[in-house]
Amino acid sequence: MHTLGCRANQSDSERLREILLGAGFEEVEFSQPADVRVVNTCTVTSEADRKSAQVVRRGLRLGGQVVATGCAVATRGGLQGGRLPGSVLRLPPAQSEQLLSLIGADNCPNAQLVDQETAQLRTRALLRVQDGCDQFCTFCIVPYVRGRSRSFPIEQLVEEARRLERAGYREVVLTGIHLAVWGRELRLDLSHLLEALLLATSRVRFRLSSIEPDCFPVGLFDLMRRNPERVCPHLHLALQHASDRVLERMHRNYDQAHFSRLVEAFFAIPGACLTSDVLVGFPGEREEDFLILKRYLRERPFFRLHVFPYSPRPGTAAARFPDQVSVEVRNRRRDELLALGERKRLAYLRAQRGCERDVLVEAPGPRQGTMEGLTENYVPVLLRGGPALRGHLLRARLGRVSGQAVQAALVRKEFLPDS
Ligand code: SF4
Repeated sequence: MHTLGCRANQSDSERLREILLGAGFEEVEFSQPADVRVVNTCTVTSEADRKSAQVVRRGLRLGGQVVATGCAVATRGGLQGGRLPGSVLRLPPAQSEQLLSLIGADNCPNAQLVDQETAQLRTRALLRVQDGCDQFCTFCIVPYVRGRSRSFPIEQLVEEARRLERAGYREVVLTGIHLAVWGRELRLDLSHLLEALLLATSRVRFRLSSIEPDCFPVGLFDLMRRNPERVCPHLHLALQHASDRVLERMHRNYDQAHFSRLVEAFFAIPGACLTSDVLVGFPGEREEDFLILKRYLRERPFFRLHVFPYSPRPGTAAARFPDQVSVEVRNRRRDELLALGERKRLAYLRAQRGCERDVLVEAPGPRQGTMEGLTENYVPVLLRGGPALRGHLLRARLGRVSGQAVQAALVRKEFLPDS
């Protein structure tokens, strides 16, 4: 399986993976011999669309059935205008349950057995709570591809969270295309959902995936403060830009002051960690707009920045704006922010030294006898220990930075399994 794009796609891929594992398939690397290859495509930019088509072609060369799903399949003109061989099986994103019949494998006696075996290996799950978007940011194709915003019912999500907990997951990440508007048509908001999920489960902790600043339900801050062990104090709050002029042309529905108020309220929570997306080189972005953005990022406590240079997506309003920024300028601005982001990442990691955090141990580390994990405030850590630690939430003291992670030493060792 090869997944491109956002958390929503990753969540869809998780579901497809579950369906395939449940039907008795075994997962191998994409480049290995396989009966079926699934490519979950993205069409958010022309570049993403081009890459999606490239991976589909690579899948065809490698052999086996190739299933293309995701946004590029749902949009007219996606996958480079649909110029792909007819042998590619197309699975629209809303029809994941049809995967087995599409590949002719809808009759499998091993389903239960496989489900029990894989439960032991699970640590972090994605729970999709919402789909679609009504925002129509001028650079984004997603509302045309995913349709209007729909919140999944609270009862269904509570049941799914219980199931994930029973399956052995220790962290559940709530995802959506526009997560902040979950519940709008139900006269609820995300804090009501999270409250219900907390009541229905006892062992998992919850994390929010990327969330938009407009319509942000501020009740979430109170939940984070009251439940420090169950709700991760981490926000990936998609800024995109800090110049009000650019935000308005992007049709983002908030201004810099609104974003700052959210950040200030969030940082009243102990251990708060802020990550974000920014888009540079948007049509009409002047040097002074870029400098506003750069200064804003420099002065705020961001841990990680995902920096995207704007690329026009046919079918969006911004692609028709006359004042496009040259590729050279876009790339230069991207590089400046990438360098700034790297300095901020290191500064944040260094400041963690001496803190105690709850680490979810996830996978073997790069060296023999080490394991990788993730703290509640999104710090990747390396611990001494073996595979028996996997799937455990352990208290650890953070130490010095080592590459992309920080080293950590366990505390309260008496609760550890043999490693
Ligand atoms: S909020 Fe904007 S960027 Fe996010 S999916 Fe909706 S239209 Fe796209």
